[in-house]
Amino acid sequence: MNKIFNIETLTRESVKKLSPYSSARDEYVSDGSEMIFLDANENPFENGVNRYPDPYQRSLKSLLVEQKGVSENQILLGNGSDEVLDLIFRAFCEPNQDNIITLPPTYGMYKVLSGINAVENREVLLTSDFEPNVPKILEAVDENTKLLFICSPNNPTGNAFSKEKVQELLDNFNGLVVIDEAYIDFSEQESWLSKLKDYPNLIVTQTLSKAYGMAGIRLGICYASVEIIAILNKIKPPYNVNQLTQQQALKRVLNQDAVDKEVEQILRERDSLIEALNNVGFVQEIYPTDANFVLAKVDDANQRYQELLKQHVVVRNRSTQPLCENTLRFTVGTPAENKKLIAILKQL
Ligand SMILES: *Cc1c(COP(=O)(O)O)cnc(C)c1O
Repeated sequence: MNKIFNIETLTRESVKKLSPYSSARDEYVSDGSEMIFLDANENPFENGVNRYPDPYQRSLKSLLVEQKGVSENQILLGNGSDEVLDLIFRAFCEPNQDNIITLPPTYGMYKVLSGINAVENREVLLTSDFEPNVPKILEAVDENTKLLFICSPNNPTGNAFSKEKVQELLDNFNGLVVIDEAYIDFSEQESWLSKLKDYPNLIVTQTLSKAYGMAGIRLGICYASVEIIAILNKIKPPYNVNQLTQQQALKRVLNQDAVDKEVEQILRERDSLIEALNNVGFVQEIYPTDANFVLAKVDDANQRYQELLKQHVVVRNRSTQPLCENTLRFTVGTPAENKKLIAILKQL
């Protein structure tokens, strides 16, 4: 267990000191009566969105509380995971002083956010089987290391990391461990959410952009201890999740059956895509996946990428990423799209 973990010492001085913006809607508590709102300089004529949205997204959070078994004050919602991750940087990393650790090949936003926030990014390559290199990671830690980003299932490799390795990192790193679970709904592995109560240094992020099919509304979710969420709430823009997003998200999260059915279908399609790729001559290796995409090593990724483009299929060439020379990442499409893709691959 983490004995010397202390969220106070990790938080930036400026964040500890600040008093957050108090919005008009923060200052009154509803008792359910019908009220006349003359407090926020809104246009009073109803059009569905003339009022500011709930800054704490209470309806949506109450659904997540039921589904995920955490309390409301352990949830922070943001304008996509991108905003949530940025808030984590801004709360805990002092520019030009602190550092973070990322594990390439992985999601590109961690590095971009470290650049934006002027925070050193210490990169520790995954091992050749795409697992975290625990001894090397712990070696890279110093007293200014605030965050460790673990993307599991990992993008672009697709695999979920070994539980033992992640646990070892949670046990031995005294900064915050951010586990990005954007693809968790496609994985057999259990979410790390259930471990929140055991690890005060754990932050789990999820999103409605992938399995929930709502990349367009921008909704990212952060789960952590009450203390961490309180700090993030202090610095978030007051109305960071707009009304339309809250409404759409609410409908979708209420309709979990529909989400589950689509996930099942995507997983079936993933299996047939893998089978088809196995029979394509220029595909040299298909990596194990817990996500809604498949990473494959090919003979010449640039050439195959261009050939697919000519056939009006856009995939992602991940060749510039370390350990990913000549790889293409295929997102699983609809059955019709996959059929076309497979037909085209067979012809190339
Ligand atoms: C797609 C993806 C996200 C999603 O980000 P949003 O801003 O919520 O759309 C987050 N993390 C990883 C690793 C992803 O691949």
